[in-house]
Amino acid sequence: MDGMSDRRTALVTGANKGIGFAIAEGLGAAGFQVAVGARDDARREVAVERLRAAGVDAFGVALDVTTDDSPAAAARSIEQETGRLDVLVNNAGIAGRIEDDAQDPTTLDLDVVRTVLETNVLGVVRVTNAMLPLLQRAESPRIVNISSDMGSLTLRTGPILAAYAPSKTMLNALTVQYARRLAETKVIINAACPGYVATDFTGHDAPRTPAEGAAIAVRLATLPDDGPRGGFFNEDGPIPW
Ligand code: NDP
Repeated sequence: MDGMSDRRTALVTGANKGIGFAIAEGLGAAGFQVAVGARDDARREVAVERLRAAGVDAFGVALDVTTDDSPAAAARSIEQETGRLDVLVNNAGIAGRIEDDAQDPTTLDLDVVRTVLETNVLGVVRVTNAMLPLLQRAESPRIVNISSDMGSLTLRTGPILAAYAPSKTMLNALTVQYARRLAETKVIINAACPGYVATDFTGHDAPRTPAEGAAIAVRLATLPDDGPRGGFFNEDGPIPW
C-alpha cells in the first residue's frame, strides 16, 4: 500500500468489454487511474493489458456483482491499492434471455426477471455500498449508474423487454433514493443512458460506437461540485423519467 496518492482512481464494473471498456479508456484519458472490474480473470487481464498499451494507468479488480462477497473483496483490494476511490461507474449489466418470448410481459419468465434484477439492480446496490466508505474519503466523489432510456416510463422506447426495461426503471429510482440519502455529502450520483451502442449486448447492430456511448458517463464522472444530483442524462441533456 502506498497510501493516499494525488492520482484520482475510478472503478468501472464490467470494464472488460463494450461500453465499460470504453468508459475505462475515457476515464484513463481524463487522467484517472482505472480499476478494471470484471468477473473473469482472463478477460480482465486482457482488458488491463489493452488499456495499458493505450497509455491508461489500469489495474484489475476481480468483481462479480451477483455475489455479496465479491464487491466487499474488491473494496478491500482497492483500499490497499489506493486508499480511496474517486469515481464509481456501475456499468455491468445484462439484457437477460429473450428467446421463447421470455420477456413478453404476457408470457414472462420470472426466472429471467430474477436473474436480470440480480445483476442490474442488486449488483449496483452491492457494489455501491461496498465502495461508499472509500468514496467518502475522496475530494469530489462521483457515482454514475449506467441505465437506459428503455427504463423511462415516459418515453416507452425500444423493444418490449419486460425484465430488462423495468430493471433500468428500478435502477433510476434507486439513483434518486441514493441522491436523496447522500444530498448533504460530497458524493454526487446520477444515471446515464449511453444511447444505442454496438456491443455484444446489441449484437453489434447499433449506430453508436462504445466511445460515443461512454462519453456521457465520463462527463457525469467528472462533474463539478455544484453539478446535478439524482438526474438521468444522455449526452443531449436530461431524459424524462
Ligand atoms: P456488454 O454485454 O458488451 O458488456 C457487459 C459487461 O457487463 C461485460 O463486461 C460483462 O462481463 C459485465 N457483466 C455482466 N454480468 C456481470 C456480473 N455479474 N459481474 C460483473 N460483470 C458483469 O454490454 P454493453 O457494454 O452494451 O452494456 C453495458 C451497460 O450499458 C449495461 O448496463 C447495459 O444495460 C447498458 N446499456 C447498453 C446499451 C447498448 O446499446 N449497448 C443501451 C443502453 C444501456 P462478461 O464479459 O464477464 O460477461
